[in-house]
Amino acid sequence: MDGEKKVGVLALQGDFAEHIASLRRLGAEALAVRLPRDLESLDGLIIPGGESSAIGRLMGSYGFVETLRELSQNGFPVFGTCAGMILLAEGVFDLSGVATIGAMGIKVRRNAFGRQVDSYETFLSVPALGEVPFPAVFIRAPIIVDAEPGVEILASLPDGTPVSAKQGNLLVSAFHPELTSDLRFHAYFLDMVSRGPFSQ
Ligand code: GLN
Repeated sequence: MDGEKKVGVLALQGDFAEHIASLRRLGAEALAVRLPRDLESLDGLIIPGGESSAIGRLMGSYGFVETLRELSQNGFPVFGTCAGMILLAEGVFDLSGVATIGAMGIKVRRNAFGRQVDSYETFLSVPALGEVPFPAVFIRAPIIVDAEPGVEILASLPDGTPVSAKQGNLLVSAFHPELTSDLRFHAYFLDMVSRGPFSQ
C-alpha cells in the first residue's frame, strides 16, 4: 500500500496495541484513536477485540457512536475483530443498554462458544487470503447467525457457522488476527484502505 494512508485503531479498551503492532509490521502508518477528532486524518479504522459492552459504553460517552455510524455507512473502511465485529453488526443477541454502530448487515451472537470453550485456536480456510489456512484465535468469541444478501462470508467453522465477512467497506472477524504472526488479514484490510473510500 502507499505510505500516505493512515489507519487508526480505536483505543478505548481491548487489544488495540497488538493491532497497531501488526499494521506497523506491514509498514503502515498506524495510530491509537482516543477521541472522535483523531478520526479526521484517517483513511481507515480497526475496532479491536475486548469487551463490547465496555467499548460500546466508552464510545457512547466519548461521542464516537454517531460519527462512526455515519463513516461506516459512507464508505469509510472499518475492520472489526471480535468485540469490534459485535459493535459493527446491525443485530446483536445479548447486548442490552449499549448503543452500537450497527452498520453491517449481519446479526451476531456474543459468547457463542459457551463457557466450556473460553478460547481455542484452529486453522480456517479463508479463500480470499489464498490457499494456506489462517490461524484463527477465538476468545469468548461471537458468531454470525444471519447475514443479508450482499454480505460476503470469508470464513466459516467446519459446521458452516460464519466467522468472518465483508460488506463493501466493512470487514469483520470473530477471531483475533492481531494475536498471530500471520499478517494476511491486516494486509487484506490495508488493501481495502488503499482502494477506499468506497462509494455505496
Ligand atoms: N466476549 C466479548 C464480548 O462480548 C468479546 C471477546 C473478544 O473481543 N475477545 O464483547
